[in-house]
Amino acid sequence: MRVVIIGGGPCGLTAAWELAKNGANVTVVEKDSSLGGLCKTVRRDGYQFDLGGHRFISRDHELVEDIKELMGPRLLARSRRSCILFPDRRFEYPLNMMDVLKNGAIGTNLRFALGYVATISGLSRSLSPVGSFQQWVEAKYGKPLYHEFFGPYTRKLWGVDPATLSGEWAASRIPAPRFIDTLRKSIGLSGTTKTHAASYLYPVGGIGEMFETMGARIETLGGKVITGADAGSLVMRDGRAVAIRVTDSGGGAMDIEGDTFLSTAPLNRLADMIDPTANPGTGLGHRSLRFLNIMLDGIEDLSPYTWQYTPSPQVIMTRVQEPKRRSPHSAPEGRTSVMLEIPCRKDDDVWNMPDGQLQDRALEGMSRLGYRLGPHVSGVFSTYAEHAYPLLTIQAAALRHAALLSARQYPNVTSLGRQGLFRYIFMDEAMLMGRQWARNLMNPNGHNPAHEEDYGAGSLLRESGSIAV
Ligand SMILES: Cc1cc2nc3c(=O)[nH]c(=O)nc-3n(C[C@H](O)[C@H](O)[C@H](O)COP(=O)(O)OP(=O)(O)OC[C@H]3O[C@@H](n4cnc5c(N)ncnc54)[C@H](O)[C@@H]3O)c2cc1C
Repeated sequence: MRVVIIGGGPCGLTAAWELAKNGANVTVVEKDSSLGGLCKTVRRDGYQFDLGGHRFISRDHELVEDIKELMGPRLLARSRRSCILFPDRRFEYPLNMMDVLKNGAIGTNLRFALGYVATISGLSRSLSPVGSFQQWVEAKYGKPLYHEFFGPYTRKLWGVDPATLSGEWAASRIPAPRFIDTLRKSIGLSGTTKTHAASYLYPVGGIGEMFETMGARIETLGGKVITGADAGSLVMRDGRAVAIRVTDSGGGAMDIEGDTFLSTAPLNRLADMIDPTANPGTGLGHRSLRFLNIMLDGIEDLSPYTWQYTPSPQVIMTRVQEPKRRSPHSAPEGRTSVMLEIPCRKDDDVWNMPDGQLQDRALEGMSRLGYRLGPHVSGVFSTYAEHAYPLLTIQAAALRHAALLSARQYPNVTSLGRQGLFRYIFMDEAMLMGRQWARNLMNPNGHNPAHEEDYGAGSLLRESGSIAV
């Protein structure tokens, strides 16, 4: 059986790795010139920058062990520290109610505390649309904290009113505060935040090194990995896909024939490949990110934080990252760098702004936050992620379902991964989906999810063990 996989990101490559390990005939086509998808690393002048600064964590013991074996000594064990940074205040993240109360002004604290108590006691109810992001946060943290932190950050990151976003996303990604922990802390006993792992694995050469190494391993095992090959359409015959038509960077086209196809390209792109005239996924939107990568000279370390979230509308970025906090090899000896995540839409003003102009705005914002970087900047360049976040509006679930149904007409085509399922999932979840799909293909009698959605972050992942790193 010839297997063709569209996309050399975590999902596609892990599927190909699993197949190649078992001697299958597999070809991966990736439109970019390098591997990793959203998990790629760009290197320049001795500095390295991910698209957004990733970390690898998984509850799946086997996956963690496989990655350790793949990477050997190139894999570092690191720990995370994050904060929420305002021009005048800083809070540790995940939010800890005691820290919030300690760091705020007395009047603000009182509002947060009363809002929180009113919520957990049922005295205050959110009037925001049922099932929305705003409703979920107001119900867990109270209205004042929503209006101070979550509302502004979410509006800035997603570019839409949080009342139009789905609460499902908030429920899976924001740790709900536990009243008992807050109480324990308030009487001097330590509380725990169980939902966020503090330690993680990270390759010396940036997260992309994990997938570059995986690509090389697939080839050693006999698989094929073709970069710079953009899959434009599926060639159909008798109700089945028989080939994908790809274009290379020089504009040359070729057909790659196969018996089974896995697409990890964006779901609406796959729907276009199948039939551009009847694409039910057209309404599925994405939030894009532009990363401003700033190389610094004369500063060895900027801060102890892996991530600094910056909700303030006065600054253009939503997160500040210092790549050296992940791998000390991310900058030349004695220097450091920062990467700023700037949310936008493909082709809007921010996406198209010249580097120099964006740099001025970003540095002005950094200086409001207490970092005066201007004299230390030795170089700046931008990288872009068009499909950074699936825009999970309340209506998106129905559109996603319709687009998946349309792809399902063809029994030998499957759509998976973060883009392929239009789901907000992490890299290990994408990798586990790829691995499970490959195993099902080789052993159709084993655990076999009925539909693409069943590969999602639901039962498949919750069934697995419980180790972080
Ligand atoms: C800012 C940011 C930070 C993140 N941080 C973390 C983190 O710390 N930890 C974590 O676990 N996860 C993190 N994630 C999530 C992680 O990046 C994704 O879950 C993961 O990359 C999904 O893998 P995938 O293979 O499904 O999709 P992608 O990584 O999107 O890969 C899809 C691939 O398909 C290719 N492709 C698309 N269309 C075509 C086509 N027509 N022809 C050929 N190839 C095509 C793309 O170029 C891409 O390489 C983060 C995401 C973002 C945006």
